[in-house]
Amino acid sequence: MAKKKQFAVIGLGRFGFSVAQTLAKAGYDVLAIDSNEESVQGISEFVSHVVQADTTDENSLKALGIRNFDVVVVAIGENVQANILTTLLLKELGVPYIVAKAKNELHGKMLAKLGADRVVYPERDMGVRVAHNLVSSNVMDYIALSPNLSLVEVSAPKPLIGKSLAEANLRAKYGVNVVAMKRGDQLMVPPMPSEKILEEDVMIIVGASAGVQKLEDFG
Ligand code: ATP
Repeated sequence: MAKKKQFAVIGLGRFGFSVAQTLAKAGYDVLAIDSNEESVQGISEFVSHVVQADTTDENSLKALGIRNFDVVVVAIGENVQANILTTLLLKELGVPYIVAKAKNELHGKMLAKLGADRVVYPERDMGVRVAHNLVSSNVMDYIALSPNLSLVEVSAPKPLIGKSLAEANLRAKYGVNVVAMKRGDQLMVPPMPSEKILEEDVMIIVGASAGVQKLEDFG
């Protein structure tokens, strides 16, 4: 069996805590690191290993053997300098995959230039998701995969109810694909073209943002 990925999470604010706790719940080994003693204590019951350390100190990172982790998440927030310096050191030490949390676009650009493999913007992305959910009542969740590509979870748009997926023809009309349908406990992945859309159905759709937006407007 393939060896399970080893994760380290640096910075145990609300975001880092949630990442670390979720990974641990999913059965992964997680090392949670924070310079603050209380933060370290607060997570100790949820993850396999905790360490109090300042990750802007190269020697501390080396002592932790940080380069042996497959993925390291930099979730330091307010202290942008510490966030950037930590990312830089992780890259220099040869961490294979670095995920770094950015406060804004400029910060994100810098992290990418320093070699972060993935830059995340939790506040911005959650804002977008909540707003999409507010403006159209049928949108249950929304994720921007890239500026032009979105994934949405929508309750069946009224004009489509009673039609089969083939009849709805969303690919030709809106340039989107229905990748899954949820009906109660039943999950259809992928749904058959002959499947009729029922009122209680939830559709998971991926496609060009403009097309997805038109579907959202049905709500
Ligand atoms: P969130 O929004 O996720 O709650 P935040 O953006 O407000 O977090 P902070 O609370 O500023 O982020 O930072 C997250 C954690 O990072 C804090 O617990 C802080 O102690 C830790 N941290 C800050 N600097 C360092 C450092 N140099 N080394 C290790 N941990 C650090």
